[in-house]
Amino acid sequence: MNPDPLPSSFDTFADGLPSEPPPLRARITAACRTPEPQALSPLLAQARPPDGQAGEAQELAHRIARQLRERKSASGRAGLVQGLLQEYALSSQEGVALMCLAEALLRIPDAGTRDALIRDKIAHGQWQSHAGRSPSVFVNAATWGLLLTGKLVATHSESSLSTVLTRLIGKGGEPLIRKGVDMAMRMMGEQFVTGETIAQALANARELEAQGFRYSYDMLGEAALTMEDAKRYRIAYEQAIHAIGKASARRGVYEGPGISIKLSALHPRYSRAQHSRVMAELYPVLRELALLARQYDIGLNIDAEEADRLELSLDLLERLCFEPELAGWNGIGFVVQAYQKRCPFVIDFVVDLARRSGHRLMVRLVKGAYWDSEIKRAQLDGLDGYPVYTRKAYTDVSYLACARKLLDAPEAVYPQFATHNAHTLAAIYTMADPSRYEPGQYEFQCLHGMGEPLYEQVVGPLARPCRIYAPVGTHETLLAYLVRRLLENGANTSFVNRIADPTISLDVLVEDPVATVERMAAQEGTAGLPHPAIPLPAALYGTQRANSRGLDLASDDSLRALGHALSESAGEQWHAEPMLAEAAPADGETAKVQNPADHRDIVGRVREATLAEVESAIAQAHAFAPAWAATPPSERAALLERAANILEQGMPRLLGLLTREAGKTYANAIAEVREAVDFLRYYAAQARSDFSNDTHRALGPMACISPWNFPLAIFTGQVAAALAAGNPVLAKPAEQTPLVAAEAVRVLWEAG
Ligand code: FAD
Repeated sequence: MNPDPLPSSFDTFADGLPSEPPPLRARITAACRTPEPQALSPLLAQARPPDGQAGEAQELAHRIARQLRERKSASGRAGLVQGLLQEYALSSQEGVALMCLAEALLRIPDAGTRDALIRDKIAHGQWQSHAGRSPSVFVNAATWGLLLTGKLVATHSESSLSTVLTRLIGKGGEPLIRKGVDMAMRMMGEQFVTGETIAQALANARELEAQGFRYSYDMLGEAALTMEDAKRYRIAYEQAIHAIGKASARRGVYEGPGISIKLSALHPRYSRAQHSRVMAELYPVLRELALLARQYDIGLNIDAEEADRLELSLDLLERLCFEPELAGWNGIGFVVQAYQKRCPFVIDFVVDLARRSGHRLMVRLVKGAYWDSEIKRAQLDGLDGYPVYTRKAYTDVSYLACARKLLDAPEAVYPQFATHNAHTLAAIYTMADPSRYEPGQYEFQCLHGMGEPLYEQVVGPLARPCRIYAPVGTHETLLAYLVRRLLENGANTSFVNRIADPTISLDVLVEDPVATVERMAAQEGTAGLPHPAIPLPAALYGTQRANSRGLDLASDDSLRALGHALSESAGEQWHAEPMLAEAAPADGETAKVQNPADHRDIVGRVREATLAEVESAIAQAHAFAPAWAATPPSERAALLERAANILEQGMPRLLGLLTREAGKTYANAIAEVREAVDFLRYYAAQARSDFSNDTHRALGPMACISPWNFPLAIFTGQVAAALAAGNPVLAKPAEQTPLVAAEAVRVLWEAG
């Protein structure tokens, strides 16, 4: 008898999961799976400007964009590259090459290895050999060209940049390169970072503060990997709050400076799977930081990170809002990302939370900085859809619709519109009804080194406040932030990129996104169709084969469903014994199979094969071989595909078995089932397209022996390859994981 019908490892699914989520939260969770057209269509009406306002916004956007473009071309390479050029008399080509190298070197933590890279790769002129094979250090050449010269030039080829670097070495030797690279690194820092320390940053901010800008400081650092890292970041935040608080001199959360924090910096396990640890260990840190910020009355803002952390961050926010010691304080801030299909529902929740808890929350609306990785993650994880929109114009529409929602709840939220896009800025300015503006209604925000020229036209001339997001830290902590800025500057959809490209007319640049989407809809028949070049995760491999389906372990809905299936199968007793086409009478002892993580959990029983059974199996395989070899490859393929579908449909139950018998984590177990499904489909596709019984002769029975660490994936992979090629299989599982293997064989039999 199983002494513990529900293995303790299954408890994590009940962890932090209310059985019936409140309706506002349920809508957020569900919206992640809404197809794009349904997600977008209600937003079009909310984003559409009333009569007259569209023209007004466009005119203002046009004016701002024109001035911005004129300024950019006049100032050209101002500032950033000048030092490099003056000190080393380098052409922009050489500057670009050094910037690329500097960026690559930022990834290397110690000086010795940096020198080795320079020696190895440059001194011996090996750049060319890398081109086209591994990701080159020159991938961001176009972006650096844009930043340094203000022009988008396509002439930076890999070979010309590598020649430049080799020539530089020849002229000045490695010391020159090292100095040049050091300089390039400092300039990158200068472009995107306000100061290496909070004291420096506060001092550097004074000039623009005097012009009316406000600041929110961000201590660079995110994605802590160890508790030590997390502790370092927490101390940096605490020190920063003291410094900012003193500098603020009680100007308050609206007029004074604030701080932005990343929760991933404060705990190495900031993920949905660790809900209770996050609540027990990260939350108290967040609370302490908020109390400290309250002491000085400076705003404390929680940055938005990856989409799979959104719901967890909402749990933390909700708890923080009901913290008695923070009652009545209006300095709690939260970021929402308009590129997420969930955005409008997150705003509904935040507005409701503000009303329930009696805070006026500061809500920063951004479009979102992780677009590329959200798309890639959803594909990798085989999710049903993307959490984000796939077309830029949809994000713009969502931004405006969500802006209206925020402006409509002035007593509950203080909207902070963070954008570098002249049209978005102008649309918000007109949407907020300039005739009724009063201080405290809303503010704009921009990033240090990216938005100042734009907002110099807003803070003074239009008398609207703008807060600069000011990263603080050393070169070593810059990389993750820098990559996001490079992506934003380098993307051909992004406003900061397009404003620098004189071939794009201002009219196109400042087109109202509602009009853009309506134009697309007129051509395509429906508004909100996904980007044609971004297939849904399931269709990633086109007509060749379906991508295996995953499970979103960050979605409370799928966790709830999975938790249910797991508890149903938790007490299931599995059984394995030799599986022969013609079974011999059962013989011999059975042994129990224990859960390696919890020995009280008896997963099932196994009976090992006898020598006679092995011999019988070999004889049966030989007898069956001619018939299987003569089966048309397309028929073999169809059977493998059927097996893949059965595995996929039975995933929740299989996860229970994989975690119990093999000690897999849930994420690993999902990957395991998916890999098995992929193998089956992959070999089926090969058999279908490449094999013919006339040209490919089967070899005869195959012995497949699999390891315990991938008891389903590698087991199925070997077996599927041999079967696809027309060979019968004698499969021997790892002795630690016979139950999983037996289930895999049952599935193959069921498939035919
Ligand atoms: P635009 O050029 O108009 O928009 C670019 C954006 O459109 C991209 O960033 C992306 O979000 C979206 N986009 C691009 N291509 C597509 C596509 N094919 N389909 C759908 N959408 C697409 N970001 C965060 O994620 N979390 C934060 O906490 C955060 N804090 C910020 C704070 C401030 C003060 C500022 C200014 C920005 C912050 N950002 C944050 C970064 C922000 O998300 C980007 O700067 C912003 O998305 C750029 O938008 P834009 O309106 O300036 O430019």
